[in-house]
Amino acid sequence: MNIFPWAKIYIPPLDFSLPPLKLSTAQGEKVFTEETFTMYVCGITPYDSTHLGHAATYLTFDLINRYQRASGKSVSFVENVTDIDEPLLERATRDGVDWKDLALNQVQLFQGDMAALHVIPPQFFVPATSVMGLVDQAITKMTSTGFVYSIDNDLYFDVSSFLKDLPIPYDEALSIFAERGGDPLREGKRDPLDPVLWIANRNDEPGWESSHGFGRPGWHIECCVISLRYLLGERFLSESKGEYLIDLQGGGSDLIFPHHFMSGAQAQAMLGISFARAYVHSGMIGLDGEKMSKSKGNLVFVSRLVADGVDPMAIRYALMLQRYSEDRMWTNELLEKAQSALARIRLNLSKSEVAPAHTLISQLASSLSSDLDTPEALKAIERWCYESEENPTVDEAGVVSRALDSLLGLAL
Ligand code: ZN
Repeated sequence: MNIFPWAKIYIPPLDFSLPPLKLSTAQGEKVFTEETFTMYVCGITPYDSTHLGHAATYLTFDLINRYQRASGKSVSFVENVTDIDEPLLERATRDGVDWKDLALNQVQLFQGDMAALHVIPPQFFVPATSVMGLVDQAITKMTSTGFVYSIDNDLYFDVSSFLKDLPIPYDEALSIFAERGGDPLREGKRDPLDPVLWIANRNDEPGWESSHGFGRPGWHIECCVISLRYLLGERFLSESKGEYLIDLQGGGSDLIFPHHFMSGAQAQAMLGISFARAYVHSGMIGLDGEKMSKSKGNLVFVSRLVADGVDPMAIRYALMLQRYSEDRMWTNELLEKAQSALARIRLNLSKSEVAPAHTLISQLASSLSSDLDTPEALKAIERWCYESEENPTVDEAGVVSRALDSLLGLAL
């Protein structure tokens, strides 16, 4: 049962044979032909509203989820909530609120935004605070395989044997590690990049009892255990077969290093098998030519747009006008383009005679299976609109409507 209940979203059935999904990753092209599909997506730290960067990320993995389901695969999809972390504690202290109330409140806002954007909820939406026992067991397991050491009761992960697989040059990794909460300069570390696994309690911060002392976990180990426990089940501490533990690890491109590298290394240190077959990352969203960031104060929030009367389907459509993997800009022109395209599609869907559905569905499948080529998919819809206006021949608007919902999450 999910601790944070999340309303279900209806997915219309699609009776159409789809080509296997191909995704381009830093490790090469991956084709998913198996009948099962396991996907872990890194969730939010609940201290701020859902901005368009979050929306673009969760939309990317929703498209993968939708495509695999429509292909008849058995999909297992898990997402976490980092409901204990420095930024959350800092924000709670700044605002004089209880960190648990802040987290609950922000998770509910996030779920509301996702529901508006028609994102299918994960089967398991797991708060980090619910897995302290599992983290304890995982650290014990990693200690037994020789990857753990202690500095003043804080436990560190020895990453040295994985550094040959660093996704970026070491010097770059070092500066990003420091920017994103790492402590490369701490005395006593075996390698400056070693991440913390367990932080001993200090300054009355929240903590949990464990066999490693009273404290709280580092960020990477949380995602490592949540993904393994909820995708592999009870065998998560003993899995020892296969080439990979899960099919896909996903998130924004800001998670490539250190987060995804470290959680993957920790899973491998525990079980001796590579973590994810594919690491898939969505690009960053900027605003009118500038990087969107909290420090610049130019974040565009989904809830703000919706409160201003913007159709959430137009936000979804606008985000699909460009490739998921690219860093891209959000502009008013993009939103206006999406709004007028949706008005045209809705008009055609309301007609009794339209262009045939199968040509369109086949083009949607072909584009989406090619590394989620959403710009090409949206062009196919434009062509279908044009054909429906010029040469309507069949009563298939309902079939098209269900396909747009099923494959692209456009509920019109
Ligand atoms: Zn994560």
